[in-house]
Amino acid sequence: MKVRADRLEKDIEEINRFNSTPDHGISRSTFTEEYIGAINYILKEIEKIGADVRIMRGGNLRARLKGTDNNAPAVMIGSHIDTVFKGGMFDGIVGTVTSLEVLRAISENKIPHKNPIDFVIFVEEDGSRFLSVLLGSRIWAGKIKDEDLSKILDKDEISYFEAMTKSGLVPQDESILDGKKIKAMIEPHIEQSRVLESRSIPIGIVEAIAGIKQLEVTIEGVSNHAGATPMNLRNDALCGAAEIILNSEKLASQNGTSVATVGHVEVSPGKNNIIPGKVILTLDIRDRDDVTLNEITNRIINSIGPTCNNRGLIYSIKQVSYTKPVLLSKRVVEVLENSAKKQGINTLKMVSGAVHDSSVVAELTNVGMIFVPSKDGRSHCPEEYTDLKYIEMAANILLESVLELSK
Ligand SMILES: [Zn+2]
Repeated sequence: MKVRADRLEKDIEEINRFNSTPDHGISRSTFTEEYIGAINYILKEIEKIGADVRIMRGGNLRARLKGTDNNAPAVMIGSHIDTVFKGGMFDGIVGTVTSLEVLRAISENKIPHKNPIDFVIFVEEDGSRFLSVLLGSRIWAGKIKDEDLSKILDKDEISYFEAMTKSGLVPQDESILDGKKIKAMIEPHIEQSRVLESRSIPIGIVEAIAGIKQLEVTIEGVSNHAGATPMNLRNDALCGAAEIILNSEKLASQNGTSVATVGHVEVSPGKNNIIPGKVILTLDIRDRDDVTLNEITNRIINSIGPTCNNRGLIYSIKQVSYTKPVLLSKRVVEVLENSAKKQGINTLKMVSGAVHDSSVVAELTNVGMIFVPSKDGRSHCPEEYTDLKYIEMAANILLESVLELSK
């Protein structure tokens, strides 16, 4: 039994019709008209399959295909359908359409399975409306309290609770996601990097999701006249920042696994004829291993002091966030690899540098992820593209793995 590529293609097209920026990529913000349009399309498809649909805590959607033992823990599959503003057609959608097609294939072929199979759509994964990523899965997992849903606001000060209620995705089941009731979860997703493409491997099996440390570094020097101040009498905060940025790049490059990025720099006063007196920069440091993540962060932090001292600058460092790395399930990784092998599909074990709803679920139960190549590594932009043949492979691996885990 195989999935049908024509249906995967149709689902991708149909879901992406719901888009608030048709001339610039795809924009489908949580609980908007477009979001609900896409949900309604998916609900119609689920109705044809005959799965039981429930709106769960936080507005997350769950469609359950009953098994022969409905007290057995469920095998969960799925992803998200919200996008960043002017994003692409595939982020979240790959996991959504492959999971939907797997549900169809199992149902129409009447394949017996013991465990219930849950197809889920998590709300607000990309944080485009409420500016906080993995919001739906964190609410479902009980990491965010009920009363806080009225305090989480979008840019127009509409609360999560209000937006959810207005959209009609009112929870029918407020229970907190219970790891004991989920045997395993698998999320297919685009890679969002160039590793698979550069090695011509069609499928990635994710072993770990990288941890992230985010820092904010403030560097203060002296603003002064750009013409009247000789080079040896300057305390230029931006020159110090430049050295810090290049040192971070060098230190993160040394161990082959860490990555460090300065994605945002604020320069004051920011005038073409004044020496910069103050710079605030962000540092985003990631690694698959917690010890290495802390080690590399410390090395970068320790390099900032000497740089600033040499240049007569003062500095302060604030830790903005810290997410530990998540190890995915060895058992699920093995099942995914075997399924791929049986179908003659070449795979690569890899680390996800981006976080996913799977990171949240992995704290509760066994989780695995399937990656498909992103053309030129592009994502979160209109150029985001994955060839249908890879999506079909991912769906077939998902199908085989779900049947293995639910028999
Ligand atoms: Zn995503």
